[in-house]
Formats: sequence, C-alpha cells, structure tokens
Amino acid sequence: MVRTFKISVLCLLFSLGATAKSIHYTLSMSEPHTHLFEVEMRLDGSGAKETVALPVWTPGSYLVREYAKNVQDVSAHSEDGSRLEIKKIDKNHWEIKGKRGKDIIVSYKVYAFEHSVRTSYLNSEHALVVPASVLMYWQKNQQRTHKLHIEIPDTWSTITTALEPFNKPGNVDFTARDYDELVDSPLEIGNQHVIEFEVLGKPHVIGLYGASNYDDSTLVSDFSKIMEAEAKIFGGLPYEHYTYILHAEEGRGGLEHANSSVNFISRWSFNDEKRYKSLLALIAHEFFHTWNVKRIVPEGVANFDYDQENYLDELWMAEGFTSYYDELILQRIGHVDQDAYLEVLKDEINTLESRPGRFHQSVAEASYDAWIKYYRSNEHSKNSTISYYNKGHLIGLLLDIKIIAATNGNAGLDDVMLKLYRDFALKDKGYTSDNVRQVCEKISGLNLSSFFNNYVFGVEPLPYDEVFDLAGLKMDTTSEKSAWIGAIMRVQNGRLMITGIVEDSPAWKAGLSVKDELISIDGFRSRRSPPVYLGEKVPGDRIICTVSRNGILKDIHLTVGFTPASISELRQVVTPSEDQKVVYEKWLGVPWEKEKE
Ligand SMILES: [Zn+2]
Repeated sequence: MVRTFKISVLCLLFSLGATAKSIHYTLSMSEPHTHLFEVEMRLDGSGAKETVALPVWTPGSYLVREYAKNVQDVSAHSEDGSRLEIKKIDKNHWEIKGKRGKDIIVSYKVYAFEHSVRTSYLNSEHALVVPASVLMYWQKNQQRTHKLHIEIPDTWSTITTALEPFNKPGNVDFTARDYDELVDSPLEIGNQHVIEFEVLGKPHVIGLYGASNYDDSTLVSDFSKIMEAEAKIFGGLPYEHYTYILHAEEGRGGLEHANSSVNFISRWSFNDEKRYKSLLALIAHEFFHTWNVKRIVPEGVANFDYDQENYLDELWMAEGFTSYYDELILQRIGHVDQDAYLEVLKDEINTLESRPGRFHQSVAEASYDAWIKYYRSNEHSKNSTISYYNKGHLIGLLLDIKIIAATNGNAGLDDVMLKLYRDFALKDKGYTSDNVRQVCEKISGLNLSSFFNNYVFGVEPLPYDEVFDLAGLKMDTTSEKSAWIGAIMRVQNGRLMITGIVEDSPAWKAGLSVKDELISIDGFRSRRSPPVYLGEKVPGDRIICTVSRNGILKDIHLTVGFTPASISELRQVVTPSEDQKVVYEKWLGVPWEKEKE
C-alpha cells in the first residue's frame, strides 16, 4: 500500500513537471536480501525511438567494469500503459520504440553484490549505490536535470549522499544537475551512524556503516585538521557541503567525488596506531582529490565517455601528487613526526627501486595503460610495469624540493597546485602533463624539460641524491649481503610454488619459472618459503633446484646471488649548510634541529 501511494504522488509530480524535461528514476529495494535493485526510469517527452545505456566504468577507477553484466528483466512501457518494444543493440545500450510525445518508462533490475567503492552493493542490512552501475542514462539527454526517488525498506531510516537537498533527515527525493553529477554522487542507504560537523563554516556529514570502536569527536577533530590543511593550499573549500561515506568492515580503498568520497576501512581502524594512520592517509588522499582530479581535471577525462576507456597520461600527477600529499598532510597536522615521515618516504623509494618494471614503463605510460595494466596485474607485472601512485608520489617529492631550493624557500609544490587550480580548474579547462611542466617552470624559474623527459616520459633512474642534497637529506643503503635467488615462493595446498621471478635475478637467468613447484634444493626437500636450506648458502654458491613443471621433474642449476641493495634510512646530514636548512625547513615546516625530549 505504501508503495502504491508513493507512486501515485510521484505520478502527480511527473505530470506537474512534465514541461521541465527531466529524467526521473525510482530506485527500490523491496527484497534487499536478494541483492536486486529495482529501477524505473521515466523519459519525459520522448520521441519515436530512444536509446538508454549503462556506463561501462565509473570516473576515478580506470577499468572497464561492464556494469551491464548485472542488469536483468529490462522492459519498457508507455505512459498510457501499453507495452513498448525494447531491444538490446550492444553490450550496454537498449533501443526503445516509443510513441512520439508520450513518456517512456523503462524498468529493470540490477544485481548488486560486489563490495567495493566502485561497485554497488545491497544486502539485508544496507545499500551502497554507485550510480554508474545502477542508473542508466538517456542518450543525448545527459544534460537534463535528473531526479531520483528512493523507496527504502521500512526498517531503514537514512540516506547519505551529496545530492541535493543535502542532509535532510527522512528525505527520499534527490536532484542532480545532470547525469555527470548523478554519477558523481554515490548513496549509502540503511541505518548508518550519522555525524554532522562544520569545517571553515561549511556543513559536512559522515555516514558511517559498520559496528566498530570509533569515537565521533576524534574523527571530527582529525578529519577537520586534514581538510583545513588541504583547504589552506587552495585558499578555501570549493563546495557548499561535503559527504563522507565510510564503511568500517574490511579492506581499504576509496573513491573520490566532487563533493563526497566513499572510503572502506577495516573495522578496527580506530585504536590501533598504524591502522588509524592508514585511515587518516586515506581520508587525506580522497579529500585532496576534491581539487586534484575533480576540479583540476586531466584533459583526457574533461568530458566523460561512459561507453569506453578515456585515455590520459596524467595519473602520475592526479594520483601520484595526491599520494605525495596524503602522507605530507599527516606530517603537517602533526599526526606523524618528521622521522616517521622520512621513514614513509624511504619505503616509497624502496617500493619503486625493487621493481624491475621501472626500466620498462614510464610513469606517463603507466597512466595511459591503467585500463589494461594497473587494474589487471599478473605475475609479470612487477617486471614490466610500475605504479603511477608510487612513482608519481616520488616525482611530486623531488619537484617540491627542487622548486623550494630554486626559489630560496619562497615557493614549492603547494604553489604549483594553487596555480593549476586557478589556471585550469577555475577556467574550466583540462590540463596536460606539459601544462604541469610549464607551471612548475613558471613557479621555479627552472628549465624542467629534461626532468620531465627523463622521469615522467622516460625511464631514467630518479635523481634522489642530487635532489635530496638540496634539502640536507641523505640515503643510506643496506650493507647486508645475504644470499638471494630472485624467486618468489608461496606454499599452496601444501606445495611450495614459484609465484614470481624477478627480472635478471639468478632464478630468471637459470630458467626457473612461475608455476614450477620447488621440490628440493641439492636434494634436500623444500617445504617452506623461503626454503630453510637456502639460508645456509652464501652468494656465489652453486645449487641444483629440482622442480616439478607440468608434472615432470627437472633439475635447474643456478648460482646464488646477492640480495639487491635497498635504502635503509633517509636521514638529515650531520653538518648542513644554511641553504640546506632553509630548504628542509620550508619543505616540512619544522625547524632543522629536532626538539630535545
Ligand atoms: Zn586517488
């Protein structure tokens, strides 16, 4: 009965607003335990033939996910009640024969049971709606106002979303300026805990799903510090309100939107120091995207094509610089001290330097190929690819220090970000990697052509020593020279399997292979990873690995090598020059001399 009543009220609204040419959705979840959303989509004033489609991807996550694979029971009828012919014309488009001037109503269901920040999820407890995966668009009419009416189960009470009207308890009717805004506004529906707060005079809300040990005031205090520190870079908050959707359950991941973000964290992230830092870094990351990617937009995604890949080579900036800032901001707000921060950078350097892929793929290429490589890694990916998060982070770090040094501490990467915001975001223009170089050059007075050619578009080793020296920093390398063969192993079903081979390692050269089962070394049975016997060897020793390859035993002779060197510490030099102190202090905003305990 309740449902019928709602529909008749809605029909009245439709007829009153018929001249407004909107697209109206009714999203229901009458049996949430089945994981099926029910969607009705009304096309006002449609013509004789119309096409609707579901995107193949969602902005911010660069992989074709084929959301249409979860669509079922598609049908269409006219506003006069007659059934209309609807035909699928490719994997994600449907064509409808309508009656000129009469509204078409398209109905379908979507199965939603993949729990991630970029897929929709529905169960008996709650729903996460990622609009690109549930709400079709009306081809050629994406610019219209999109209205969304939601029918929620009786036992649920709350919808958390950035859609208008903002944070109105009990409201079930929302409006988006156009389809892009609708796609950019995920919704959490259920009985989530709602925390309201203000930052710099603007309203914010956290919708937190998942039983956990959080403390509202700590979250508000730490989130606010992060947001204020980031707003300071850009001269204020660029929106009227902001929404956090937080799932405290399992996994870690986030997805940015213009006025909101979806963040998944593990349930017990709030008391454990390391996990809580990881949560704050995630929040700092997704919130930095409010500017970097959602407003400072790479040219390749300035206008979304929802039907295919949208290529861009700027993820080293969009994701990499965002990764640089997510850790730096925690240092700026005092959540981590300078030693802990240098430790983070050391780990970031080791991550890149332990990856042979750094000699094969530039960070610009890594960005362009995100669609087929980053989200589709395999056992060879370490040898052939890098992460634009990781290398982009380090390029942001090196550029920051170079710019600070070149300007005697008068400017840094913050100024680059602000100028990109003013010159591109505020002028509604997309940017390219060349634009980033030009802005860096303008701010620093440096010629950065070779820096960009070598490290952004090329695969030259990053100039750590030269740049760190400007800030009085030094890297120490490990002196340990232990035995190493370069085969990554894992015990699977009681068998010691080779799951990775490092390029140019002894294992690579000798011919060990992924999917080999390591049976023994020098005749001694191997059962653990790493094999205990290997620990008895020293670099230069000759060994015989017996493997089972496709069920046939094989002996492989190899010479044990050295564990590759890594950075053991990134530290301040003992006797800095005045220039080094200036750069360091401007970079981290703390005195060179650490405060004595
Ligand atoms: Zn990101």
